[in-house]
Amino acid sequence: PPEVVPQAPEDPLFGLMRAFRADASPDKVDLGIGAYRDDNAKPWVLPVVRKADEILRNDPEANHEYLPIAGLASLTSRASELLLGKSAQAISEKRVASVQTISGTGACHLGALFLARFYKTNGAGRTVYLSNPTWANHRQIFSNVGLPLATYPYFNKETRGLDFDGMKGTLADAPEGSIILLHACAHNPTGVDPTPEQWREIAAIMKAKKHFPFFDTAYQGFASGNLDRDASAIRLFVEEGFELVIAQSFAKNFGLYGQRAGCFHFVASPSSEAADITTRVASQLAILQRSEISNPPIYGARIASIVLNDDALFAEWQENLRTMSGRIIAMRKALRSKLEELGTPGQWNHITDQIGMFSFTGLNETQVLKIRSDAHVYMTKNGRISMAGLNTKNVGYVAKAIDKVVRE
Ligand code: PMP
Repeated sequence: PPEVVPQAPEDPLFGLMRAFRADASPDKVDLGIGAYRDDNAKPWVLPVVRKADEILRNDPEANHEYLPIAGLASLTSRASELLLGKSAQAISEKRVASVQTISGTGACHLGALFLARFYKTNGAGRTVYLSNPTWANHRQIFSNVGLPLATYPYFNKETRGLDFDGMKGTLADAPEGSIILLHACAHNPTGVDPTPEQWREIAAIMKAKKHFPFFDTAYQGFASGNLDRDASAIRLFVEEGFELVIAQSFAKNFGLYGQRAGCFHFVASPSSEAADITTRVASQLAILQRSEISNPPIYGARIASIVLNDDALFAEWQENLRTMSGRIIAMRKALRSKLEELGTPGQWNHITDQIGMFSFTGLNETQVLKIRSDAHVYMTKNGRISMAGLNTKNVGYVAKAIDKVVRE
């Protein structure tokens, strides 16, 4: 009966994808899902991923056996170096526990489950603070494991930039030891990141309040095109000695979306007990993982591992990342200049100021629905567009469609 299992609403983003597929218009443009597309609006298998796949398929030793519970060690170890740096003290001091997960979503879930079980089980200060707005899935991932949720201000609608004062104020007022979810780079959905100086201030407040950082990194290499720079916020917090966790996705930066490759990492604060704490955390993560998925999927993990363990392929991967981030930056410039050429009412500098995969256009829900029905341009109701959906052929069309709804 409906009172036992009521009908749930369709996931808004996957619903949008379905509506796009069903639209027969030849003009339709998909700016919904955050997946990279090439200049022909087609999915792009990274050339380096094709090479690694070839190596894997020709490996006579490759098979379909189970991975260990914590996943492929040759992936998880390189994955932690990618985040923290090859010569990170946290790694040499054995203060990092890493587990391969079902992409970034699975990493967020495992982290949430771990914290629900072990973080301040006596109640106070267990609230998870999410940025307002944030990736739509965060809310359900953390509430699924019973952690209380709150939000901190993030986006300033007037400047279409960071509401830094609002963010700092809420972090300073939050109960001591709260869990703060931070997007490491290329914030989804706003495309707005704190500056290095602002990150230092955030770290100082969080340290004073003994808050617990939960980093989510799904776009390393996409924000600046530089892997190290895109990890600098995480590295700052680790160098500041925080105990923290990181959910890492390889969906976007390897284009391995459906392979579900990712990792969860715990980093202990430096202390004489740190290595021991890390071993205990790893043992508990293994128990949780075993009951949830037993062991993670192997194929995408092997592809990422092949690339991360070979200097030449690693260099080629960085080149592929620059291709993707470079095309996105070019599309930001193109969209902004077309809107400015059209004299579209309003300021459009935020399109090039924002970074990563997404831009928060500032279009309201009425305009979003109108541009969908009139021009067949699909974006999420909050006015977020995936920049990768733009290309040299459709950017002029999209600019004109935006111009039209803004003037109406
Ligand atoms: N976190 C954020 C902020 C994201 O945008 C995404 C991808 N949309 C993810 C995590 C995880 O995605 P996936 O599970 O595909 O790795």
